[in-house]
Amino acid sequence: MQKRRRIVLLFGLGIVLPSLLLGYLAFRGIQNDRALVEKERLEDTRRAADRVTRAVDDAITAVEEALTKTVAEQSGKPSAESAPALEKLAAGNPLVEQVFYLKDFKEVRLPLAELLYVADGRREAGSSPPASLNGSTEMQVAQQLEFQQKDYPRALAGYQQALKHVNDPRLEGLVLNAIARVQRKSGLLKDAVSTYENIVRHHGGIIIPGGMPLGPSASLEICVLSREIGAFAKSLQASLGLYRSLLGREWTLERAEFDFFVQRAKTLIEEVLAMQPPGIDLTSIRGEFQSLGVKEAEQRNKTERMIAFEQDAAPVLEAKLRGGMDETNRSFSRLALDIGSHSYFVSIVRPTAPPGNPSDAAWGTIVDAERLRENSLRPALRDHFPSGETTWAVKGKDGAVVLSSENPPAGPVTFRTNFVSNTPDWTLEFHQPPPRLIRTFLLSRRGLYSFVFLLIAGILVFGLVLTIRSVSHELELARMKSDFVSTVSHEFKSPLTSIRQLAEMLQSGRVPSEERRQQYYDVLLEQSERLALLTDNILSLAKIEEGRAEFVFETTDVSALLTSVVSSIQERVRHEGFDIELKAQGPIPLVAVDRTALSQAITNLIDNAIKYSGDSRKVVVGASIEGQSLAIAVQDFGAGIKKEDIDRVFERFFRGGDELTRTVKGSGLGLTLVKEIVKAHRGRIQVESEPGKGSMFSIRLPLAQGKGS
Ligand code: ADP
Repeated sequence: MQKRRRIVLLFGLGIVLPSLLLGYLAFRGIQNDRALVEKERLEDTRRAADRVTRAVDDAITAVEEALTKTVAEQSGKPSAESAPALEKLAAGNPLVEQVFYLKDFKEVRLPLAELLYVADGRREAGSSPPASLNGSTEMQVAQQLEFQQKDYPRALAGYQQALKHVNDPRLEGLVLNAIARVQRKSGLLKDAVSTYENIVRHHGGIIIPGGMPLGPSASLEICVLSREIGAFAKSLQASLGLYRSLLGREWTLERAEFDFFVQRAKTLIEEVLAMQPPGIDLTSIRGEFQSLGVKEAEQRNKTERMIAFEQDAAPVLEAKLRGGMDETNRSFSRLALDIGSHSYFVSIVRPTAPPGNPSDAAWGTIVDAERLRENSLRPALRDHFPSGETTWAVKGKDGAVVLSSENPPAGPVTFRTNFVSNTPDWTLEFHQPPPRLIRTFLLSRRGLYSFVFLLIAGILVFGLVLTIRSVSHELELARMKSDFVSTVSHEFKSPLTSIRQLAEMLQSGRVPSEERRQQYYDVLLEQSERLALLTDNILSLAKIEEGRAEFVFETTDVSALLTSVVSSIQERVRHEGFDIELKAQGPIPLVAVDRTALSQAITNLIDNAIKYSGDSRKVVVGASIEGQSLAIAVQDFGAGIKKEDIDRVFERFFRGGDELTRTVKGSGLGLTLVKEIVKAHRGRIQVESEPGKGSMFSIRLPLAQGKGS
């Protein structure tokens, strides 16, 4: 037992340990592969990200090159004259938000900027009204009448007189303005309105002393006066018109002026709307008023951005650019600027100055960040990272996400990159889930080897199981064989001993009575029969197992065969009190069987029934026809077979584990032989048994026997 365990253990270790080792190595291999896959994927991401940044870079470069070209073409011309060419450049490039001129790093100009207003105090002085206006005596008299004597009719007449003598259209506007003013003061409101209308139509752009154009104030007067005279529709239209003109940048105003007029126009519109004057389509007016409001907010925002840039960019640019451009030897440089609360991506182009005349003049573009994002970055990211495992996010420098992939970015950031010279100052972040172990295994180059390994390992384990099974089976067989040898030798020895003793007693004539002598003869016969049966069993089984057995099938009267077997055994065991009953039901037809073999099988069954009968002395042998079969059953009422043994009783050398079996002699071969014989007759054998109540072995042989083997 100990040895057997050791063999199985050694065997297991010999296979399991190397398998475990190989399995571990394979696992490590797959892990390495996974790291490799991860590295490759990272490399792919890096390359794709590179292409994305290059695409954005190329888009900006195209703008820069166009600007460089335009600037080169315009070199030498004053900046104002370059405006049309620059305008064309800006119009043709959606990425250009503004083109600006940087003069000596001291001043930024936005020649093309479409601003709602200029910063306070930044309006360039327009052509001032001719000095002769104040010098005109007619005007002076009229002004005196108006302001000092407050004689409006005469003042009006005076101004009208003066109007006849002016030729300069700018002066005409100013005189008309005075006329309208006096008309108003004298209560001629309708006249004043039409005079103001005249001014707006023909002299709106005239600059009054102080630099403000006439147009907006005249328009405002129309609105106010119209309302005063109850012309609400006109007042509304005029106020909307003023608002529209202000947003349409009809006049150059400073921020405070613009705010004042916008505020006035809006208040007037709101007030008149609140009065709900009849006969006016208020809905459409409200609609336009609202959309103008939206437009105002947008343009104000942009205007403020540009004003802030114009005012504050110069020192920042100077600080960043001085010297820097010479070092890089590039004709342009890119910067991300933060001015106020706004960020700008700018690109500066410096025209090559003629030698000996170094100039710090430069041109620049403000890149439209939103367009850059939507027109260049987003498509590039979509192309190079089609929806899949890799997700991405673009973050601004404050960390806020400005763009992200359709699938929300998940998992750790596996790769992060920025743009050339950090312009735009966005960070691209890529997320990739770690490759799955099983997938890596299936996809990896070593997957095939690992697969083969697994297969081999599987086969080895399978082999191990089979080996353990067959080894233990062999060991069990060996045990049974040795049991067999000892029991069989005992089986031979004890009958031989009693035969010898009895024979000796008979020979020496020491047996007193004839009756006793007869008894001895019976025992002698029984013992030698048993020896013969045992020898027959062993020899027959050996023959069958070696394939040497030859069955001779002869048409036989099975009833007669049974009668002969039963009566010979009955004879042998009568002295033990056994009663073997033979019950043949109905006529049994002739069947082709091997008589010797079948007799031996039935003898074995009856012999067992007797051996394992315990206290019972009754055995029933039955024969009947069931369908196409001949059924022979041997039933006893003895010990029965334990449940766990019942499936094994036909195994070679198997002997039951109960008390009775241990005391009864046997070889464990009887039923094996019965089974082989039945098999040779193409029949079946089955057993029903209940411990304590007895067993019944039934043989079924087909009536139509073929040629036996
Ligand atoms: P053995 O020489 O031990 O009788 P067999 O092959 O004839 O060998 O029987 C195998 C085992 O089957 C026996 O050891 C016994 O335990 C059990 N067995 C066979 N026939 C009977 C029966 N009629 N009643 C109880 N047990 C039986």
